[in-house]
Amino acid sequence: MPYISLPPVAREELDALAGGRWNAIVADRPELSAAVDLQRRLLAQVLDLKHTIEQGRLPRLSLPARYVAAKLARGVPALAGEPIPLPIQPLTASLLRLCQELGAGGAGEAADHIRTAVETGSMDAGSLLAASLSRDQHAIRTGAAHRGLAPDLVWLVAELAVGPFVYVLQRTLLTTGSVVASGDALSTALGEWSRGYCPACGSWPAMAEVVDGHRLLRCSFCAAAWELAQYACVYCGEEGERFVTAAPDEERKDRRVEVCGACTGYLKTIDTFALSPFPLLSIGDLETMDLDMAAMEHGYQRPALREFKTGLRG
Ligand SMILES: [Zn+2]
Ligand SMILES: [Zn+2]
Repeated sequence: MPYISLPPVAREELDALAGGRWNAIVADRPELSAAVDLQRRLLAQVLDLKHTIEQGRLPRLSLPARYVAAKLARGVPALAGEPIPLPIQPLTASLLRLCQELGAGGAGEAADHIRTAVETGSMDAGSLLAASLSRDQHAIRTGAAHRGLAPDLVWLVAELAVGPFVYVLQRTLLTTGSVVASGDALSTALGEWSRGYCPACGSWPAMAEVVDGHRLLRCSFCAAAWELAQYACVYCGEEGERFVTAAPDEERKDRRVEVCGACTGYLKTIDTFALSPFPLLSIGDLETMDLDMAAMEHGYQRPALREFKTGLRG
């Protein structure tokens, strides 16, 4: 089952699931309460935007299933290199509100400066959102640095604002309708997907969620879930002795890191009963910050995003 389509979850249920997980984090590690508060406010914006996008009209994607299947067969993610019209207005409104929340929640002036840059048009919201959708780290970093803005914060806020849209795109493109209507080409190509990066958007997984022995990679951007046939490093494919899975806490074997001596990448791997629905993976990231620290202390890191500049002709 290489690509898994998660059923949609109602807002009330998402709120209840998220609330339970946040309360557990604060109970366990009170020092994270400020981080949890900020995440609560950010995800409330993300969920509002997801609702707006789901109620609105999606752009018509002229991506025939056979075309997408051919891209996947070449290892190119479905959305890579495609000119996709973004709903600029609702995304920009969310972008500004996210800046406000970040400003109030600890990022202070750095977030205010981004908001001002967007409001005054010094930074074009459409270009920023498009660069985030196409995962163009270079363009975002250069654009931010050029305007004296904090590059990581610009990247984060744009990613949060585009996330709900790319999540809906991923589902529309790979799950609903198109697969059924178009015969088997797309489902076959998805079934054969053997890459560590996301088949929809090309991002690396935020983590792996292991359910009933299935190691599902979870996209850090669009929340796609896919499983690889090989147990190997998701970044470079190493499966020899340089690829090691370890539990930093002896008592918690359900929380592990996969580390790779070949490429120095690491991936958090968590046993769970159910896959996290969008956008709850970011809560998973907060829950497992100690694993990031453990991996980084040993010199491992999350690699930069891969670049997919073009579609079929690339
Ligand atoms: Zn993705
Ligand atoms: Zn590796």
